[in-house]
Amino acid sequence: MAETFNAFVITRDDDTKEQSAGWTTVSMEDLPEGDVTLRVRHTTMNYKDALAITNKSPVVRRFPMVPGIDIAGEVTASDSPDFAVGDEVIMNGWGVGEVHWGGYAQYARMKSDWLLKKPAGLSGADCMAIGTAGYTAALCVQRLLDAGLTPDKGTVLVTGANGGVGSFSVALLSALGFTVAASTGRPEEADYLKSLGASEIVDRAELSEKGRPLDKELYAGAVDSVGSTTLANVLSKVKYDGTVAACGLAQGFDLPATVMPFILRGVTLAGVDSVMAPKPRREAAWALLDKHLDRAKLAEITQEADIKDVADIAPDLIAGKIRGRLLFKVD
Ligand code: NDP
Repeated sequence: MAETFNAFVITRDDDTKEQSAGWTTVSMEDLPEGDVTLRVRHTTMNYKDALAITNKSPVVRRFPMVPGIDIAGEVTASDSPDFAVGDEVIMNGWGVGEVHWGGYAQYARMKSDWLLKKPAGLSGADCMAIGTAGYTAALCVQRLLDAGLTPDKGTVLVTGANGGVGSFSVALLSALGFTVAASTGRPEEADYLKSLGASEIVDRAELSEKGRPLDKELYAGAVDSVGSTTLANVLSKVKYDGTVAACGLAQGFDLPATVMPFILRGVTLAGVDSVMAPKPRREAAWALLDKHLDRAKLAEITQEADIKDVADIAPDLIAGKIRGRLLFKVD
């Protein structure tokens, strides 16, 4: 194992609170506490990573910090009975990249409780192309399945469909045999969404303005990554006994809804969190992805980029200039 290695480190000046970030050399002793050390092989960039790098939002809560909330790598040292040297593992969330050093480095040290064995049918690169966005989509779809949703019950709506969570939700639901309606503000991407498996495109303007407390029952269920008025309208359009898995706030964190869909239609609003989700739920989500995610669609969503360029890529990602998922190989 190397004594020193390369890491992308975010630091903050205590007096001015100015943040700076760049590649530097760190030593093994600099790694945070944990019972498993990893050689990072692949990582990706999520919106949260881009916020951390650009300091557009106070994502980083401890300095110096190595960002990168998703990691695929192999174990190089382990004090855990659950992991042996050479095991291929993945990690998503758990406050990594916020309070614990993450994946933008050649090595990382983690708590074994945070690690999962890499799913057998997916490569480490696949897992990072999927990343937190795809894993969150799988958590949402799993919530709908757990609620008893089946394809015969009707169309499932996905909001923010061109986003990371939305794209994977469309692909997974269609692979499971559901008819999918994809709501988007980018109708020019309709062909892309249809190639992922959407049967119907809904203009997001139809959902983003204040609507009726109870509307026509159109959808058997929904995955919502948008929140706010959109989620309120989605709830009002879900059929009797339907379920909405809510994970995001792209429109806003408010929820200007009424209780009518709950008390008159028995609708369930199921919250989904990826960061602290317990291990069995994570394993189920990754198993769902392994079994059902179309690898050709995954390739279509993914673009490889050079990890040396993360500082330049982050502002572009925030500005919405990057389509699909980024994959970084960590050499
Ligand atoms: P993306 O930025 O990739 O996608 C968000 C999508 O939402 C956009 O592509 C757009 O879709 C739509 N959107 C953006 N702004 C608005 C708006 N003002 N009104 C309506 N729709 C809008 O993000 P992700 O897919 O990675 O994440 C989606 C959401 O889920 C985020 O809020 C994120 O913070 C959250 N999230 C939550 C997690 C959890 O653990 N709960 C984990 C991961 C993400 P389109 O162009 O198709 O209209």
